[in-house]
Amino acid sequence: MSRSFLGWPAFPEAAAREVGNRQLRENVRRATHTIRGKRAVLAAERPDWEQLRDSAAAIKDRVLAGLEGYLLQVEEKVTAAGGTVHWARDAAEANRIVTDLVRATGEREIVKVKSMLTEEIGLDAALEAAGINARETDLAATIVQLGDDLPSHVVVPALHRNRSEIRDIFAREMGRHGRPAPEGLTDDPAELAEAARLHLREKFLGAKVAVSGANFVVAETGTLVVVESEGNGRMCLTLADTLISVVGIEKTVPRWQDLEVLLQLLARNATGERMAPYTSTWTGTVDGDGPRDFHLVLVDNGRTRALADPVGRQALRCIRCGACMNTCPVYERTGGHAYGSVYPGPIGAILNPLLRGLDDPQTASLPYASTLCGACNEVCPVRIRFTDVLLDLRAQVADGGRHPVERVALNTVGAAMQRPLLWKAAVKGAGLLGPLLPARTPVPGWTDNRALPDVPGESFRTWWKRNEGERA
Ligand code: SF4
Repeated sequence: MSRSFLGWPAFPEAAAREVGNRQLRENVRRATHTIRGKRAVLAAERPDWEQLRDSAAAIKDRVLAGLEGYLLQVEEKVTAAGGTVHWARDAAEANRIVTDLVRATGEREIVKVKSMLTEEIGLDAALEAAGINARETDLAATIVQLGDDLPSHVVVPALHRNRSEIRDIFAREMGRHGRPAPEGLTDDPAELAEAARLHLREKFLGAKVAVSGANFVVAETGTLVVVESEGNGRMCLTLADTLISVVGIEKTVPRWQDLEVLLQLLARNATGERMAPYTSTWTGTVDGDGPRDFHLVLVDNGRTRALADPVGRQALRCIRCGACMNTCPVYERTGGHAYGSVYPGPIGAILNPLLRGLDDPQTASLPYASTLCGACNEVCPVRIRFTDVLLDLRAQVADGGRHPVERVALNTVGAAMQRPLLWKAAVKGAGLLGPLLPARTPVPGWTDNRALPDVPGESFRTWWKRNEGERA
């Protein structure tokens, strides 16, 4: 059975486990530093970089403000071009639609183009339960699938693996799922790529059904866009008889013109390239060219819930470039699995709670998976203000009755601060009692990994008076 993040522990527990893995930390550090270095060079060469970011944010905000109208336009255009549009409220509905569509073809093995949404809804497991084997074709997604692993990054799902781990996975697993890895495979990148190419080529050529996501859906023509680096997407999108594209409703953009802005930002932020090697677009079906049958499954799965959050809705601008996680000090140390979702890092810390709500202790823990340093604010191509959303989500968690001890403590401090005499006495008392306080508090969490700071013997006001008085 495909692995999933179902029942994953809350962030502190999962992170504590991951930070103990030195190899993982080394793999993540090396990979994120490489990508962010390349990104920084390419961002710096564009004099209009900041204007591009402003335009991208404005495009996505326009989409979110008029989402219903754009989606209806997509449905009309895709249908007119020979495709069929399906609407899915949640993961279960989306999985049922796709499973029924594949079943109707009679096929038992299908190929997939890397799609975070199909990971989000657990499509592989649903297909597997129906006796359908879905094979990933993106190199990193293939590594994750062969290793019975989980993705840890939105652009490079196997970022937590190094070359020798990949070699071991290929040597051990490829033969169980098709063409085996060549004898004596080493961890040379060219050899690993060739082994994957040979293994996957059999899959492309044999598959009659492909499942994809999409980076964008252009409303004015009903055109889908997939951006990728390996050409596996192009093979799946053109060779299969039936193509099923499973797409989140927020992926809509109004016009082709908007792609000019978004594609430039996506490639430079995601992989540090001026342009992605493969950008495939398709509109419905065309006689004698490409799939004969095309289905577009538009998925909500919490997106309208996120849209209803006045501060958090900006998370739906995300174009999944991965730049926020590549720059995040927390992600660098914990890796992606600690977030318990296919969306890790800063975007995961805000998007998962917005999509799934804060009732679950796992999602409620995510807004705290941040130092609030704001590095993610600086790189996001669609100008998501992570720190604003994180603080708002933390307030929602607290308002929901979690962290009662902190709430009582802050209410007490707040009440004292409104009464100057009481506050003065409290500050004086704290100065006197400070040296007697233990380095650790009995409150769980606060001093597990840090000591209480020393309480100064006198307040700032007293210090100021004393020093100003001496100067006068
Ligand atoms: S939130 Fe911004 S930086 Fe992070 S993946 Fe999405 S678009 Fe990229």
